[in-house]
Amino acid sequence: MDGSFQFALAASDAPAEADFAAFCAEVDAFLEDELTDELRAAGRETAGLKSAPEACAEWRRKLSARGWYAPSWPVEYGGAGWTTEQRLYFENACAAADAPILMNSGVRTIGPLIIEAGTPAQQARYLPAILDGRHEWCQGFSEPQAGSDLSALGLKAERDGDDFILTGSKVWTSFANYATHMFLLARCEPDSKGRDGLVFLLVEMDRPGIEVRPIKFIDGECETNEVFFNGVRTPAADRIGEVGKGWAAAKQLMAIARGNNTTTGALRRALRAAWREAQAAAPMDAGQIARLADLDRRVDEFEALEARFNAGQMGVGAAPAASALKLRASELHQTITEVALEAAPYSAFAQRKYLGTRAATIYSGTSEVHRNILAHAIGCP
Ligand SMILES: Cc1cc2nc3c(=O)[nH]c(=O)nc-3n(C[C@H](O)[C@H](O)[C@H](O)COP(=O)(O)OP(=O)(O)OC[C@H]3O[C@@H](n4cnc5c(N)ncnc54)[C@H](O)[C@@H]3O)c2cc1C
Repeated sequence: MDGSFQFALAASDAPAEADFAAFCAEVDAFLEDELTDELRAAGRETAGLKSAPEACAEWRRKLSARGWYAPSWPVEYGGAGWTTEQRLYFENACAAADAPILMNSGVRTIGPLIIEAGTPAQQARYLPAILDGRHEWCQGFSEPQAGSDLSALGLKAERDGDDFILTGSKVWTSFANYATHMFLLARCEPDSKGRDGLVFLLVEMDRPGIEVRPIKFIDGECETNEVFFNGVRTPAADRIGEVGKGWAAAKQLMAIARGNNTTTGALRRALRAAWREAQAAAPMDAGQIARLADLDRRVDEFEALEARFNAGQMGVGAAPAASALKLRASELHQTITEVALEAAPYSAFAQRKYLGTRAATIYSGTSEVHRNILAHAIGCP
């Protein structure tokens, strides 16, 4: 499989209309019953990428009990086994109901990669622990000298019997301060360059020699970290793919991540917050109402684009199509929080949300890099 984890489930097995209506009613009833006022408040008050840990844990427990914590995983691995259409409905309904934001790398990226490319032993060890919340994962790709050009990475993985010894560092690692595990790329062939000579490893964060230093951002949050590896011993068997071919596993993971995103709900949440903050700040003037109404229209447009993406109808390959979506979403998200801050300059929430979205055009690839990918896809020199 080339990583099109969701696309494989897309058009051909879409549920019949009546079944889909019944599914939507079931989701709506579940959200109505299970989302307490406290959980909804935690979702509404989230200014960063993830809601407060206690609210996330409680919401995860409720979703797990219903078998809905991993919407895109096949049922035999403990997932909901939903189609893309069902998953999108569910995630947008969660956003509309102010459910806590889980942002779980285990469910969205590394879990599906382990299902596609892991060994049966890895599947038995890692997948249940992701589902019951024992394992939280972070992504260790970027390094001080390797961001947009990830293939310049240099974390050293030296072979010593059945183990690798890791020396070097990662940076900007989101949620490494909470994570129990990291999936990472390291250089296992000392003279190799670029995409050759890499290994994709699954590493426990409590191994001796790992040091995590949180990075405080301008919004006061510490969601990203520096992670140092000082001679960290980790089993060579805890890897995805062959030694020396780690780039292929990383590409497969990126393809999964592309197909497993849902963004319209996040934009609608931000826009609801913008209306709320603006209305609470002062009587709104006609100009503010017009700007927010225009953003409503732009989010509708984005939803249509996301639907075309999920139906494979963007007219370019999956990677440039995902670039188009990421560009549009991150820039629109920033505009929404700018308009909210102009309307409610003294709101602490509007300030945190504005600052929190500044990094959106950097992580998951910068806007410049995505524009390059798109330009290349449409034949620009
Ligand atoms: C909040 C946040 C969370 C993150 N989380 C993670 C994570 O969990 N795991 C992880 O591995 N990484 C993570 N990252 C890192 C992120 O992937 C990198 O920051 C990003 O890829 C850019 O790399 P860089 O910071 O090294 O900037 P650089 O690559 O050095 O880029 C600097 C500037 O040059 C521009 N530029 C670079 N190359 C080109 C080009 N070819 N053409 C035009 N312009 C170019 C860039 O657009 C940018 O403006 C996170 C970053 C942030 C800000």
